[in-house]
Amino acid sequence: MAHSKALLVLENFIAGKFVPCSSYIDSYNPSTGDVYCRVPDSGKEEVEAAVRAAKDAFPVWSSKSPLERSRIMNKLADLIEHDLEEFAQAESKDQGKTVTFARTVDIPRAVYNLRFFASSILHHTTECTEMASLGCVHYTSREPVGVAGLISPWNLPLYLLTWKIAPAIACGNTVVAKPSEMTSVTAWMMCKLLEKAGMPHGVVNVVFGTGAKAGEALVCHPDVPLISFTGSTLTAQRITEKSAPHCKKLSLELGGKNPAIVFDDANLSQCIPTTLRSSFANQGEICLCTSRIFVQRGIYNEFVKRFVAEAKKWKVGSPSDPTVDMGALISKEHLEKVRSYVKKAQAEGARILCGEGVDSLDLPAGNQKGYFMLPTIITEVKDESCCMQEEIFGPVTCVVAFDTEEEVVKRANGVKYGLAATVWSSNVGRVHRVARRLQSGLVWTNCWLVRDLNLPFGGMKASGIGREGAKDSYEFFTEVKTITIKH
Ligand code: NAD
Repeated sequence: MAHSKALLVLENFIAGKFVPCSSYIDSYNPSTGDVYCRVPDSGKEEVEAAVRAAKDAFPVWSSKSPLERSRIMNKLADLIEHDLEEFAQAESKDQGKTVTFARTVDIPRAVYNLRFFASSILHHTTECTEMASLGCVHYTSREPVGVAGLISPWNLPLYLLTWKIAPAIACGNTVVAKPSEMTSVTAWMMCKLLEKAGMPHGVVNVVFGTGAKAGEALVCHPDVPLISFTGSTLTAQRITEKSAPHCKKLSLELGGKNPAIVFDDANLSQCIPTTLRSSFANQGEICLCTSRIFVQRGIYNEFVKRFVAEAKKWKVGSPSDPTVDMGALISKEHLEKVRSYVKKAQAEGARILCGEGVDSLDLPAGNQKGYFMLPTIITEVKDESCCMQEEIFGPVTCVVAFDTEEEVVKRANGVKYGLAATVWSSNVGRVHRVARRLQSGLVWTNCWLVRDLNLPFGGMKASGIGREGAKDSYEFFTEVKTITIKH
């Protein structure tokens, strides 16, 4: 298509060099609807070159001491932090999120991911046991796996990409990363800093392009023994099938349909603002976002009244406006998909209390073609409804009433997903009891999104396979060997 303005053109980063591609994909600014960037449409050839570069770099990188690797990673973290504002502006333009969110969440967390794994790699120990009667000592050793294939989604672009790159390279692997074709810019910006950080050529290679072409070429490459993937459950099924003939090591961080359970002894003045954030932060485009709120009947009316009143105060508009709470959704297609869920709920007889189709969206002149939507709250919706079963991944949340603890645990568990849950109650015994019974990889009580990266992150059921975190990522990105010595 013809483009009137000069576009940003990205290039793949292979063996320490930026390399142009023979074809490109348009990338949109979600808050204006304009094409502003061209992303390489890589395929087998580009993936092949990147894997070769990563393979070549592996012997030297894997034999460096953890401390040497750590120093380079810390330097990279410093360089990203130095350019934090530039990264935040770019992330917002590429993804649609507010600059405030990118500045306070995405980019600081990307920096922290690098620092965290640069530090944690220095402190792992291996195991040793003794069989004195047989004169044997056993110990384990851990070695990097090789070339790691890293595939990340569009919702938290640099945040989730560094969550994979950092542990992979800290453990001594080299990587070929493929960010989402819709949000590639900050990964490309990071590549520009690798040389200055002292990263040897070929340790970090980034290939841009679609999942079907570039992603699948990486998944099917015989010299990539490990894939760390964050994205949808549907794509994970395809990746599992395609990688099966190679018996690859897989870590799959997938979607969720996360419940919040609000008991009648909850502190509503903490619960309501946190549940608003957990429902609508980053336009509801966080895998950990709440989308089913179960409220105990005694406080149901009060909760709904206060929750809706607060949601109506959320401002939607230009992502660069510091007074705005919510920016644009990632794409036109995604916006249509999210809206279609609200329409389906209405057709089923549910009530839309605020947002889509109920309130009017007032956008600045420059954002009229952007992909915006108001925070939307649905009620009187059945547990079997697609809005209560499927991941919507937008600013839509359902509120329903419950009576007993037994009932709510069963209903909260009644979906195919099991990523995150939130429990609100001041009864200590109850929060422990309910947390134990929820089928969910993460349970937050009386808070949301408070993370200690030391601890496992990941989902149950259709929300994923494997966990990542200090120890878990170390285990995933290394192969363990048991060695027995007879003396
Ligand atoms: P997606 O599955 O469409 O794409 C994710 C990545 O996979 C992209 O880079 C895409 O290009 C690539 N891809 C697509 N098809 C592929 C294929 N056949 N082979 C290899 N790669 C392929 O997901 P998305 O729409 O980008 O992201 C949203 C989803 O991600 C939601 O379901 C969300 O819940 C999930 N998510 C999960 C977590 C988590 O940690 N559990 C975090 C963020 C997002």
